[in-house]
Amino acid sequence: MLDADFFRRWMTATAASVEREADRLTALDSPIGDADHGSNLHRGFTAVRSVLEKEAPDTPGAVLVLAGRQLISTVGGASGPLYGTLLRRTGKALGDAAEVSDTDLASALRTGVEAVMALGGAAPGDKTMIDALVPAVDALDRSFAAARTAAEEGALATTPLQARKGRASYLGERSIGHQDPGATSAALLVAALADTAEVSRG
Ligand code: ADP
Ligand code: MG
Repeated sequence: MLDADFFRRWMTATAASVEREADRLTALDSPIGDADHGSNLHRGFTAVRSVLEKEAPDTPGAVLVLAGRQLISTVGGASGPLYGTLLRRTGKALGDAAEVSDTDLASALRTGVEAVMALGGAAPGDKTMIDALVPAVDALDRSFAAARTAAEEGALATTPLQARKGRASYLGERSIGHQDPGATSAALLVAALADTAEVSRG
């Protein structure tokens, strides 16, 4: 079972990974965006880490709802409301249980990803974070490690796509040949989840 501490460690691991990869995320956002994705998420997840330390929510759902709210209020770019919605809606779907199962998490995350698609209007193949999140949620029914691999493959598979949503879509065909920054950061979020699960289970 997964408790509030597990979810807090997942968010902390994501913050550390986003910090390490911020320059790369921003570099990916240069040719097909406005070169701010790394700094946007770095600012957002740093704020998430400190609010979780300060308020120490005591259920998995409350950890994700607070993290999501913090991303929405600290990240100006498109990715803030989208990741914020992902975490907030996943947290709401987990309810107020003190511990949740892997299956509960898989189904709650599916709800969260559907909320992101409803908010942003993106479907798989539009060259967005959805291209990493949907395969990850599908694979999460098998294992955390499978979800990590699926998200990483999904991010890599955005390179040949033409963007149909977000800033990159303004470039039309010129968006082809570049990996999507948001799909790349979504893979970091899923990898941090898999790492956290590995550490807690040995
Ligand atoms: P901005 O585009 O406002 O500068 P960021 O650079 O932080 O915001 O985030 C860009 C990423 O957000 C993109 O790489 C893409 O993955 C994701 N994104 C943008 N628009 C959408 C959308 N409508 N649905 C899903 N993801 C989106
Ligand atoms: Mg940007």
